[in-house]
Amino acid sequence: MKLLIIYTGGTIGMVPSGTGWRPQPGYLEGRIREHLRRMEFPHEVTWQEYDPLLDSSQLSCQHWNQLARDIIEHYADYDGFVVLHGTDTMAYTSSALAFMLRGTRKPVVLTGSQIPVWEQTTDGLDNVMLALQSAAREDLQDVYLAFDHKLYHGAHVTKTNTDRLKAFSAPHGVHLGNELPEPESEPRMIPVSEAAVELYHYLPGTPLRGLRALIETRPRVLILLTYGSGNAPDTQELRDLLGYATDQGTLLINRSQCFRANVDMHRYEAASALREGGLVGAGTMTLEALTGKLHVLLTLFEDNVDLAQHLLTPWTEELPAPK
Ligand code: ASP
Repeated sequence: MKLLIIYTGGTIGMVPSGTGWRPQPGYLEGRIREHLRRMEFPHEVTWQEYDPLLDSSQLSCQHWNQLARDIIEHYADYDGFVVLHGTDTMAYTSSALAFMLRGTRKPVVLTGSQIPVWEQTTDGLDNVMLALQSAAREDLQDVYLAFDHKLYHGAHVTKTNTDRLKAFSAPHGVHLGNELPEPESEPRMIPVSEAAVELYHYLPGTPLRGLRALIETRPRVLILLTYGSGNAPDTQELRDLLGYATDQGTLLINRSQCFRANVDMHRYEAASALREGGLVGAGTMTLEALTGKLHVLLTLFEDNVDLAQHLLTPWTEELPAPK
């Protein structure tokens, strides 16, 4: 089998410098190839290194587009793809790719590490090995994230640890999504662009001034991070603000602050203002999946009714049954 590794940066290939860890061009490939030789990895691996190598906190839509484009351009040449990526925004990228890549039937597996391969105790070599083995599996055909001996679906994973080797979790379980429908098109990508997707995080005891200021920036989409199953204090001020936001064309979304979230605006009276304000509930979607899907939908649709309808229609494994 032929596999392509695309190396974007992140801790995995960083080396110490006077100003802290930084990516070292040309260093990681040799370490990985030496490990693959030692482990007698049976498949042919091609290496593509981005310039510059980046900390994943720097990545944005143009990097998602570059990755998706490289995968589509090389789609026919390889059986599977591995993306080496920093952990900070890896779940955002895996989510975005899960929606941007259409009609593809080969595994795309993201991985990285908590400890650089420079260090003896690195988790990077194990993670890369799992990612490559997964990319060579013929029963996998979607976007995944491989980390700490686990393979997650790329559209349902979130970073939960800054220090432990188990950096990621899937809030509603590990969904590998093997039962894919027939692709609706030839392999292609949906490019995305920057969009004003804003977030308001409710905190008890905080006036709504911050929410008002955000709404006045006329965001395209505003996600309210609410309590529990999607609740927030019901006040006339909130009702007025939501009405004003909707009138100016902002799509309002209700996403719970809970890790294992399931938004249900009919469960408590406390969600009435949000429900009557026309908010779209994010269900079990992670914030990462919501962000990636919104960027893709904003490329395809202008109308808020279309956006809302597609947001709640599963495209992949982003809306699993609550666990
Ligand atoms: N800051 C690093 C990054 O996301 C962290 C990591 O790779 O683990 O690029």
